[in-house]
Amino acid sequence: MLQAFRAKSVITLAQEGAARGIKALEAPLAELDDGVIVVEDKRVVSVESFSAFRRSVHSLCSLTDLGYVRLAPALINAHCHLELSHLAGATRGGGGFTAWLLSLIPLAAEAVLPEVLLKRLHAVLEQVRHSGTVHVGDVGSRNPALVAQAAEKRCGITHFLEVFGFGRPAPSEYIPQVLAAQGYCPEAAAFLSPDRYDWCAIAGHSLYSVSPEALLAAFAWCRERRRPFSVHLAESGEEEECLLHGKGALYELLRQRLLPHDWRHPGMKSTAYAGMLGLLGPRTLAVHCVQCSSADISLLARKGTNVCLCPRSNHFIGTGLAPAERMAEKGVLLCLGTDSLASNHDLDMKKEMQAARTFWGFSDRAVLRMATVNAAHALDLGHLGVIAPGKTAAFFIYPDF
Ligand SMILES: [Zn+2]
Repeated sequence: MLQAFRAKSVITLAQEGAARGIKALEAPLAELDDGVIVVEDKRVVSVESFSAFRRSVHSLCSLTDLGYVRLAPALINAHCHLELSHLAGATRGGGGFTAWLLSLIPLAAEAVLPEVLLKRLHAVLEQVRHSGTVHVGDVGSRNPALVAQAAEKRCGITHFLEVFGFGRPAPSEYIPQVLAAQGYCPEAAAFLSPDRYDWCAIAGHSLYSVSPEALLAAFAWCRERRRPFSVHLAESGEEEECLLHGKGALYELLRQRLLPHDWRHPGMKSTAYAGMLGLLGPRTLAVHCVQCSSADISLLARKGTNVCLCPRSNHFIGTGLAPAERMAEKGVLLCLGTDSLASNHDLDMKKEMQAARTFWGFSDRAVLRMATVNAAHALDLGHLGVIAPGKTAAFFIYPDF
């Protein structure tokens, strides 16, 4: 059935594509005044002015006048860990990464009843939907099936199944076996069935917590299937100290709990190390990038790597502020993510956009592009990010910040 929605204006972002570089991010938004979006079976049929709509063949369909509002493409949260949603408010913020991690480890190790987590996920994803978010890039390993169940009819999910630890698979080894071998619940490996490839991808947890062999196997799996690959990168000073010098609080924690006895620090920062391993490129979504130097930013730009900024998570943990303006100036594609409720107060992307405006001084135009068309590009979601004929009908009332 055809339906039409009229608004004071419609921001389609349809003409411009992903916004790389500060000029593209900050360019004025093209707005269609007194616009009408015609929808059929959850797909956009046309976007036109009200005067054109009245003269068109669509004019007989049911029209909902939304009044004096601006519509924009629905938001995409490019990085989250929904399976940690039951840990809201339980971790220690403000003391740096290792202190936060020490508070998280025992909580995350505790078994949570599936029905308890599912109930929490239902509530959280209902809030996500009401905050204008249509899709979440979700990193998880234990409960992807529960996340998928709770998200049904609320929002789409890209399931980044996460590889963790120092198992050493042969590069050709099938990645679900890698996931199972890393000690995760077999459901994570079973979830990655061929019929779900369009909605699944692999994440390597980080350069300090996963063997290079497993990272490369995960990266190769994604490249062969043209899926995005994600990795936490340069999140904290402790991470850089661990990889560069093989010392510091995070190194000591990892040495006691995770690192194999023959592990040697690579002697370089995480971004350079990722580059040396061949993990950077246009299909890689590097998350955080707080500790990136000018040389690191140039490397990310040269490789065409996409970056997901999580400003409120970084602020909560106390790891610092990513050099986002310099990344934008160098043409690195930027998108935004809330990270999990273990390091954020909520999963509201509008608040993440506000934080990006406050922390870095980006305009509302720039943060809207990051949270829509750029995130759709980074997660390879060709049906989202813009309002245009043939795309999924997903839009929200764009707030006046
Ligand atoms: Zn994360």
